[in-house]
Amino acid sequence: MPGVQIKTGMRIRAVGCSGSETPGRNFASYLLDEKILFDAGSVTNLLDIEDQMKIEAVFITHTHLDHVKCIPFLADNVFLKDPQHKGIVVAAPAAILEVLKRHIFNGVIWPDFTSIPSPEAPMLQFVALKEEEPCMVNNYSITPYRINHNGPAVGYLVEEQGTGKRLFYSGDTGPAQKTWKMLGSKPLDCFLIDVSFPNAMERQALASGHLTPSLLKRELETMQHKPGMVWAIHSKPFFLEEIARELEELGIENLGLLAQGQQLEF
Ligand SMILES: [Zn+2]
Ligand SMILES: [Zn+2]
Repeated sequence: MPGVQIKTGMRIRAVGCSGSETPGRNFASYLLDEKILFDAGSVTNLLDIEDQMKIEAVFITHTHLDHVKCIPFLADNVFLKDPQHKGIVVAAPAAILEVLKRHIFNGVIWPDFTSIPSPEAPMLQFVALKEEEPCMVNNYSITPYRINHNGPAVGYLVEEQGTGKRLFYSGDTGPAQKTWKMLGSKPLDCFLIDVSFPNAMERQALASGHLTPSLLKRELETMQHKPGMVWAIHSKPFFLEEIARELEELGIENLGLLAQGQQLEF
C-alpha cells in the first residue's frame, strides 16, 4: 500500500564500536531505528546534526568515559538547535545516573542539562531503570541485565513487540554466565558482545572486565539456545587482526567482528 510503512524487524547501526579511539575507529554507540541510542561514545563526532536531533532516548550501560562522553555535547547541540526541544531521555540504573549527575553534569565539568532550560522541562530527562524490569520505548521492550564490569554496569535486552525479535547488547563485560543462561533460555536473534582482547591477553581481559575469543566460546556454551548472530564488539584496534583470526578459529557459525558503520537488520 503506498504511504504505508510496513516494519519487518529491527535495524541497528554501529555508529562506533571500538574499544579504543584512533582515527576512523570510534567508541561505542549503537543506533536503533535512528531514535534509540545505546551508549554515547560516538554521537556528536560522527552523526550529522539532523540525525542527532532524531535521538529520543539514550540507554547507558556504565559510566566509563568511552560510553558517555558525547551525552554533554549532544545536549548542548540539541538545545542550541532547538531551545524548545522536548528533551532527550537518558535511561540507566539509578547508580549510573547518580555518577553522571555528580561527576559530569555538575556545573563544573559541564552545565547541568538535567535542569536546563528549566528543572520542569530539562534537555536531559534522567529515567532510572531497575535490573530485569522492562520499560517500553516506542514498540520495544528494553530490559537491563547485570553483566560483569567495573562499577555498576548492565547490558540491554531489546525485544520488539509484534515480531518478537530479540537483541542483547552487552556493553563492556567479562564472564557473566548467570546472565547468558537467563538470556539463552529463549533464542536471541542478535547478540552484541565484548571481545576486547586477544587470547594472549586473557589475564588483562579478566582483570578489566572484558572477554577474549576463547573466553567468549566458554560464555556462549552456557546458552541453551544459540543466538542467530553473534557480533564481537569493543575490540582494541591494535589487536584487530589477531582477534579476527582467533574468532574465526573458534569455528562458530554466524560469529563475526562488527565493523564501524555496519548496519544489522533482522
Ligand atoms: Zn568500560
Ligand atoms: Zn568501554
